[in-house]
Amino acid sequence: MGMKYRHLFGPVPSRRLGFSLGIDLVPAKTCSLNCIYCECGRTTRLTVTRREYVPFEEIETELTHYLSTNPAPDYLTLSGSGEPLLHSRAGELIRWMKAHYPSIPVAVLTNGTLFTDPEVRRAVLDADVVLPSLDAATPRVFAKINHPHRLLQITEIIAGLVALRQVYSGEMWLEVFIVPGVNDAESERTALRDAIVRISPDRVQLNTLDRPGTVSDIRAATRQELEKISAVWQLPGVEIVARTAAGPEQRMVRAECESVILETIARRPCTMRDLAHLLGMHINEVNKYLGILEKQGKIESRRQGEDLFYLRRRAR
Ligand code: SF4
Repeated sequence: MGMKYRHLFGPVPSRRLGFSLGIDLVPAKTCSLNCIYCECGRTTRLTVTRREYVPFEEIETELTHYLSTNPAPDYLTLSGSGEPLLHSRAGELIRWMKAHYPSIPVAVLTNGTLFTDPEVRRAVLDADVVLPSLDAATPRVFAKINHPHRLLQITEIIAGLVALRQVYSGEMWLEVFIVPGVNDAESERTALRDAIVRISPDRVQLNTLDRPGTVSDIRAATRQELEKISAVWQLPGVEIVARTAAGPEQRMVRAECESVILETIARRPCTMRDLAHLLGMHINEVNKYLGILEKQGKIESRRQGEDLFYLRRRAR
């Protein structure tokens, strides 16, 4: 008890991975890109050099401690404030996690730029889900949206993702981050579509800004803009994961909202914020349903420190 983790964070509720325990493999902010929309702030160490940025043994020790004292998260996720595959022992870590905790899925959130290296492609072979991002398919737009390290070429990166798909048999969910006026012109959309067809991921997840990025004059795409891209692409497996996605016609009806909230908190007590984040709902809406469910005696709340947790009320 009482161990302070330096490399683990969460579990944080995320829309794509449920309750995910984040493992930060590089110090902030070490990345091969410096995306204009990055929520971790500007890249201070722009690099493509792989090395052991944080000691492997420290991560192992923290994970062992965490997993012996806490319920299993939905995913163990290599992520954090930068590019996790820059860590030279990322592959070893994935294999270690699968050997010791085979029942917990391992996810890798990556910018995908390092898959040009066969060693990096091999590193993720044992992961259950790889979530690379791809925001551009032409050098000009790549430079504009991702501000890459000078050694990176978008055509090579796409070829790296194609090569990864050929050797990796787990799930691949490709995230495309849309910034209106930067990467949504028709020519870029077409080039991106061609790249996606070649890569052939299991899912394509359209996303946009949630919080302000490092550049202040960019804005989030609207739900309509994302839907239009998805409609003109006509590709299988495209979904909108942006928070803006919940439009009126897509909103869950009341019964659905109540049952999804009940199912979620039956698995693990959640705060109102957790639920809003996990379910992509507005906090006021979550509040409303929690009120109804509490009145019906289906749930109860418990205070723990600063936070109010909601949990399923057991039938007596
Ligand atoms: S790849 Fe991810 S961490 Fe790196 S700059 Fe882009 S958004 Fe930020």
